[in-house]
Amino acid sequence: MSQRPFELDPLFRSVTTLTGVGPRIGKLMEKLIGGPKVLDLLFHAPIDFIDRRLTCLISDAPSGRIITTEVKVEKHLPNTRKSLPYRIKCSDDSGYIMLVFFHAKKDWIEKLLPLGKSVIISGKIEYFQGQPQMLHPDITNPSERKTLEIVEAIYPLTAGITNKVMRKAQMSAIKYIPILPEWIDEAHKKREDWLDWHICLKSIHNPTSEDDLEPTSHIRSRLAYDELLANQLTLALMRNRQRKINGRSFKQSAVLRNKIERKLPFNLTRAQKRSLYEIDHDMGQKERMLRLLQGDVGSGKTIVAVMAMMNAVENGSQAAIMAPTEILARQHAKSIKPWLNAAGVRFVTLTGRDKGKTRELILKQIKDGTAQFIIGTHAIFQDNVKYKDLGIAVIDEQHRFGVHQRLELSNKSKGTDILVMTATPIPRTLALTAYGDMEVSKLDEKPAGRKPIETLLLSKEKMDSIIDGIKRKISEGIRVYWVCPLVEESELMDLAAAEERYDILKATFGDRIGLVHGRMKPSDKDDIMNKFANGDLDVLVATTVIEVGVNVPKASIMVIEHAERFGLSQLHQLRGRVGRGSEKSYCFLIYSPPLGETARERLSIMRDTENGFIIAEKDLELRGSGDIMGTKQSGITDFKIADLSAHSDLLAAARDDAKLIISRDPKLESKRGSALKTLLYLFERDQAIKYFRSG
Ligand code: ADP
Ligand code: MG
Repeated sequence: MSQRPFELDPLFRSVTTLTGVGPRIGKLMEKLIGGPKVLDLLFHAPIDFIDRRLTCLISDAPSGRIITTEVKVEKHLPNTRKSLPYRIKCSDDSGYIMLVFFHAKKDWIEKLLPLGKSVIISGKIEYFQGQPQMLHPDITNPSERKTLEIVEAIYPLTAGITNKVMRKAQMSAIKYIPILPEWIDEAHKKREDWLDWHICLKSIHNPTSEDDLEPTSHIRSRLAYDELLANQLTLALMRNRQRKINGRSFKQSAVLRNKIERKLPFNLTRAQKRSLYEIDHDMGQKERMLRLLQGDVGSGKTIVAVMAMMNAVENGSQAAIMAPTEILARQHAKSIKPWLNAAGVRFVTLTGRDKGKTRELILKQIKDGTAQFIIGTHAIFQDNVKYKDLGIAVIDEQHRFGVHQRLELSNKSKGTDILVMTATPIPRTLALTAYGDMEVSKLDEKPAGRKPIETLLLSKEKMDSIIDGIKRKISEGIRVYWVCPLVEESELMDLAAAEERYDILKATFGDRIGLVHGRMKPSDKDDIMNKFANGDLDVLVATTVIEVGVNVPKASIMVIEHAERFGLSQLHQLRGRVGRGSEKSYCFLIYSPPLGETARERLSIMRDTENGFIIAEKDLELRGSGDIMGTKQSGITDFKIADLSAHSDLLAAARDDAKLIISRDPKLESKRGSALKTLLYLFERDQAIKYFRSG
């Protein structure tokens, strides 16, 4: 039921409608450009160019430059052996040039360069024994000179798609670019001196200088702004809508909170108190809360969430907390339970594993309000789960929960306050694109008594002494995580590597070692994890399934094999498993030499800092926004043109712009508003547009 403006139709057609793109090429292309549409192709921007505009006499031709010029074919010098080139001597008024072809068919070459004819050649000039020559030049008739004497854009390619095919397709696609109404504010556009959208989109395919290839070029900046504006406007619309659904004003919990506080073996940190204060303030307002609680692993988000949830419970509402995985849900249940018992709050846990009668009973308790507090996986927000009165939903998302799911949740439960917790500190720019205007509380302080984690970079060649050292530590009562190589896109190979390591370590650690991986039955996995937590196992070998957030204070050594294959954020998350107890903790990053430059830099950052906010910023710098661990799945950084490491200024401007638009024209009814709708359709933000319709 798309109501996409018809002007956009040509952009939404399949690339196979373009010149030279059949079904086979179309398939390859779709993969390369990340979509099937003509628009996807147009957003596939060149990364380089060849300037063929220089034209001069042969005798003036500068070595190493590409020139385009007219010459006469003088003589063919066929190759005498297969490995030798076929050469053609050509001339102009100033001198001679040799054209050189390897593996060329005689017939083809004779037809291309007939004796005595004039032709246009284009290619790089090289000097061989003092003679100018050109290897595999492009050739055309003098009448076609204009088609050669150009700047040729060079695109990112894939096997089976040559630059020639790509250019032809792009040139054909360009013809379909419609002229669209301007959605950028006129004054803003003038200030930036930006050109119209259709001109910019055409122009990125005709770069004529190095600067044109930069993300910050005049042309690309405008296109990036469009994309960021679409993103920010979507988020602003979501927020505006959520805001309109009135929440309730919860009085701050005193009784329940005190009961819990008396049970706590620690005092809340300043950062925890401050965050709680901010949350209390939001929950006290009539507008619904939309807040992000950002905090490093181990910074103590759970207790903050639980305290906040008491506001709802004490006011007679329900509170639910959702973890991204089964294990984490169980772990939450375990650590939260004593607090809830102390406060006398009735709770249930619900995950995908609860079936049949058990499940029915849980659902009933959620529905009739017997359950005041609900802990679980995404199962707790599925359609068939009805709440009596859900006052606050806490989402412990660890990056695995996308914007869209969050949307669905808030649509389901009208007026519910929402608190999202993220373990990976997201760089400010990313947080903006993912959460827009969500209020942010930060836990930027570790609970007292935490000792720093010592991180060591060790070559794989030292494996034996590493194992020896660990053996000694274990005799002192230490527990060890051992994470095995990440093999991209291959769970099976991950597993093989982990099993191999497990077998080797078993020789040393016998039955005090366990293995967990993603292919295990969840109950078996839990079983091993529990044994490790209880101290029945000393060493836990794992593929990367070790759940983010799992808490085993006695574990104080983290070994990561092939650490060079992990992203920074992921290393940081893994390291966060240790350093939670009273022991001094270690993280061994084991690499296989030789290390590439980026890998070395990444590992050094890990060695030098434990600050997740710094690590996240570095990650963004080193890898570009598209690659940040886990963000791809959640669709946070799926930008076509915008590049968050280059466009943070534009992002900030887009956010302000979006805010202003929403305050002035919340239904996008003005002339600019209608152009903005087109923009949203262009970037397929149809979901956001639906909001106006449903009110
Ligand atoms: P995360 O932010 O990673 O979710 P948790 O909430 O799991 O962190 O907390 C990690 C551990 O720190 C838990 O055992 C928790 O009880 C403990 N903790 C939380 N706050 C404090 C504090 N202020 N002082 C000491 N320990 C704390
Ligand atoms: Mg946690």
